[in-house]
Amino acid sequence: MSHHIDMEDAIEPEPVLLSKHAKNLLRFLHLLPARMASHDNTRSTIVFFAVCGLDVLNSLHLIPPKLREDIINWTYGGLVAPRENEKRCGGFMGCRAMVPKTDDSEILECIRKYQWGHLAMTYTSVAVLATLGDDFSRLDRKSIVDGVAAVQKPEGSFSASINGSEDDMRFVYCAATICHMLDYWGDVNKETMFQFIMQSLRYDYGFSQEFEGEAHGGTTFCALAALQLSGQLHRLDDNTKERIKRWLVFRQMDGFQGRPNKPVDTCYSFWIGAALCILDGFELTDYPKNREYILSTQDKLVGGFAKWPQATPDPFHTYLGLCGLSFTGEPGLSAVQPSLNMSMAAYAHLQHLHELWRNNSDLAHLKLGSKGSTANATQTTTTSSSPLISAQ
Ligand SMILES: [Zn+2]
Repeated sequence: MSHHIDMEDAIEPEPVLLSKHAKNLLRFLHLLPARMASHDNTRSTIVFFAVCGLDVLNSLHLIPPKLREDIINWTYGGLVAPRENEKRCGGFMGCRAMVPKTDDSEILECIRKYQWGHLAMTYTSVAVLATLGDDFSRLDRKSIVDGVAAVQKPEGSFSASINGSEDDMRFVYCAATICHMLDYWGDVNKETMFQFIMQSLRYDYGFSQEFEGEAHGGTTFCALAALQLSGQLHRLDDNTKERIKRWLVFRQMDGFQGRPNKPVDTCYSFWIGAALCILDGFELTDYPKNREYILSTQDKLVGGFAKWPQATPDPFHTYLGLCGLSFTGEPGLSAVQPSLNMSMAAYAHLQHLHELWRNNSDLAHLKLGSKGSTANATQTTTTSSSPLISAQ
C-alpha cells in the first residue's frame, strides 16, 4: 500500500514555480545584469517580456504604482515624434542611448539625426503600454503608422527601420501588430504584404523568412499572425490550412523544434503553439509532453525558463515558456492572445480603446492629428528619473 502511494508521488507533475518566475521577471524591471549588457539596445523587448510575463502570471500587482508610471514614462521616452519634413522616422526606439540627458538644444538637434523608430521596438513598446492599461493619449497614431508604411518594400516585406536593417517576415509581423493595435493601417499595403507572405510558403507548407529559404517555426508564426491581424487569414483555403497544421504538428518531439531535425527549444512551445492556435489546431498536440519539456527547462532556484534543460534562464524563454504553458490551460496563468502575444486582458483593453476611437470622432481626430505629436515633443526629456535608465 505504501509502495503504491510512493508511485503516485513519483508521477506527480512538477509544479510551475509561479512566484519565482514573477520575482525573476520583476528583477529585469530594476536592472539589466552585466552579462546582458549587449542587449541594452533592445531593452524595450526585455521590458515587454518582463511586463507581459508578470501579466500572464497574474502578477501585475507586483509592479508598484510609481514603477508602473516610470515604465510608462520610460517607454514614451523612446517615441520619435517626426516633424513636418521627417515623416519617415515615426515609432519607438529600443533604448535611450540616443536620448541624451541635456537641455542643450545643439546637442539635442545633433542627436536627432540618429533617432528613428524600429518596428520590433514599436511593437513591444505599444504592447507594454497596452498591458499596463495606458490610454495611448500621448501617441500620435498616424505618425507611427506613417513610419511603418515608410519601411515597407515594394514586394510587400518590411525593414525594421529606415536605416541599417534587414527586411523579412519578422518585421512583416511587427508591422501587422502595430497597425492592428493602433487600429489604423494608413498607407500600409496589405495586398503586397499578403503576396509576400504567400510567396514565402514553402513546398513542405511551412513559411520561410525570405524567398526560397527554409521553412521555419518562428517565421510560420509571424506569417499566420500577420495574416490574422490584417484580416486576411480567410484567404488561405482549407487544404492549405490543413497542410500548414500538419507541418506544425510534426514539429513536436516532446517539446517543439523550429525546423525538422533540430533540437527542441522552450520558445517553440510558443511559436508553434500560437501558430496552431491561430489555425484552431492546438488540440492536436500532446499537452503533457509539451508541459514536461517546458518544465525540464525551469530553473528551480531563481525561477525563469531556459531554452534547454540546465541552460541559463532568460526573460525571452521565460515569457514564451509561460505563454506555451498558458495554451495548455496551466492553472495560475492567464489566457494569452496568440497573434499579438499578450494577455487576453491586455487585448480586451486594446479593443476597448478601439471602440472609444471609433465611437468618438473627436478623439479619433485628435489621435490621428497633430495634437499628439505636440505632446510627444515634450515627453522625450521626462525620463531621466526612471530606474530603467540608470540600471547597469
Ligand atoms: Zn528559443
